[in-house]
Amino acid sequence: MVSESTPSQPVALPRHVDVLIVGAGLSGIGAACHLRRHCPERTFAIVESRGAIGGTWDLFRYPGVRSDSDMFTLGYSFKPWREAQAIADGGAIRSYIREAAQEHGVGERIRFHSRVRAAEWSSEPARWTVEIEHTDSGERSTMTCNFLFGCTGYYRYEQGYTPRFEGVERFGGEIVHPQHWPEDLDYSGKRVVVIGSGATAVTLVPAMAPQAAHVTMLQRSPSYVLAVPNRDPVAVLARRVLPERIAYSLVRWKNVMLAMGLFKLSRRAPDLMKRLLRRSAERRLPAGYDLDTHFKPRYSPWDQRMCFVPDGDMFEAISEGSASVVTGEIDTFTETGLRLSDGNELTADVIVTATGLNLMALGDIDVTVDGRPVDLAETVGYKGMMLSGVPNMALTLGYTNASWTLKADLVSEYVCRLLTHMAERGYERCMPLAPDPSLPTEPFLDLKSGYVQRSLHLLPRQGAIAPWRLNQNYPLDVRLLRRGALEDAGIEFSSRATAAPPSSEPALAA
Ligand SMILES: Cc1cc2nc3c(=O)[nH]c(=O)nc-3n(C[C@H](O)[C@H](O)[C@H](O)COP(=O)(O)OP(=O)(O)OC[C@H]3O[C@@H](n4cnc5c(N)ncnc54)[C@H](O)[C@@H]3O)c2cc1C
Repeated sequence: MVSESTPSQPVALPRHVDVLIVGAGLSGIGAACHLRRHCPERTFAIVESRGAIGGTWDLFRYPGVRSDSDMFTLGYSFKPWREAQAIADGGAIRSYIREAAQEHGVGERIRFHSRVRAAEWSSEPARWTVEIEHTDSGERSTMTCNFLFGCTGYYRYEQGYTPRFEGVERFGGEIVHPQHWPEDLDYSGKRVVVIGSGATAVTLVPAMAPQAAHVTMLQRSPSYVLAVPNRDPVAVLARRVLPERIAYSLVRWKNVMLAMGLFKLSRRAPDLMKRLLRRSAERRLPAGYDLDTHFKPRYSPWDQRMCFVPDGDMFEAISEGSASVVTGEIDTFTETGLRLSDGNELTADVIVTATGLNLMALGDIDVTVDGRPVDLAETVGYKGMMLSGVPNMALTLGYTNASWTLKADLVSEYVCRLLTHMAERGYERCMPLAPDPSLPTEPFLDLKSGYVQRSLHLLPRQGAIAPWRLNQNYPLDVRLLRRGALEDAGIEFSSRATAAPPSSEPALAA
């Protein structure tokens, strides 16, 4: 059993560590476990702005909160997922992350309530000085490290995204954002409207439907929604006949290949995929249901993240009549609910704005390299995990078309290899270089989802060729990050004696 509470006394961290991990979410805890396993001689610490482990899986507490990826791929490579359910609820994922931390003795290295505000690299003496704000006391302190590992997730915790709605102040009921769910919200017997059509909305609707008087999902335009099995029969069988680790690895790869197949088919044969998705929804909805209005998106499958519903629970709630979907534009909030631009009114006691996240890059940390402020938007990603012109730093950004942890594990493994390589060769600094300026660069993410498009200008760019290309492809990344060469034309290594301050010279085109 893993304790839910955080230490009452703040952990005293050393003033200097080899590796400083920022963030104690799924990625940060995973990174620390990898360091323990592969670089036991390295000192490290984790600084976390909140008071608990788990990041996303501790923050979000709305009814039904769960993964939509299967846990065989959202789980760590080194820690088999043992539950029967492939899709796990938030609490189970939180416990799993805490258990990993406990098993690897990571807990005592975490300083909670500590937000990294700034990180300044000095080529002499080849280290980072990190400014930390202690959110419990308001005090500030600094730490130094040789390598900075950003595991800060991808969105702003303080505030979810809510577009401006007319007349919000007039509404007499309760308005709730899923990112800040009130613990005591009682919606039993009430009429609920969930605004949104993404993963959160399709989770909330079936979860609230049994208690609410009725739940309406109000969407401006439809998303692709696919029913997936909650229990994985292959996993059940594999665990029965194979050793645990082999069974886990087998099911993990099976699910990687299935997800990739679905993604590739969507990109290569969108019309076929549209027909398959439609047929799947049609089979689960009542005869004559208006699929064209509510489940026929204007975009092609996987132009935006697909919504997965375990065992089709969302379709079931619609079929039972406890939930329904309305597609239309909001004209204004009223005293009693919402008026749509077609004149229809929706009455509500509770309105949930499942309208998304605000993206944030690298935990809003002000990064400086030898006195020069770094604008992340002017950097180019190197192997999807380091930034051009920024020495001794990696960041974890998971896949958008597959489970986050698949990439997070590979980034941590790569960092461990990199640290060992540098120690063996006597290098103190590694710095990715920008690609040749004559080569085109592209936005970091190629999803058309609103939350991505709103924030692309804040993110690094990516190159058209390796090693500056961001692969949304696990097998390719296994080759690149787990097995690929550490030294190539895109990165410069130096020992302190030879380390010149970073130049802005681009690399030769590879
Ligand atoms: C509701 C929801 C459902 C999701 N479902 C899935 C899913 O099914 N599959 C999937 O692959 N992905 C999913 N995701 C994406 C999800 O965020 C990742 O799966 C994963 O949890 C990210 O882990 P992380 O540790 O990188 O980031 P986070 O979980 O965001 O954790 C980052 C941590 O860093 C801390 N931090 C940030 N900045 C600073 C700073 N400057 N100083 C100190 N600490 C800092 C934060 O407080 C936080 O604890 C989901 C996301 C949401 C919001």
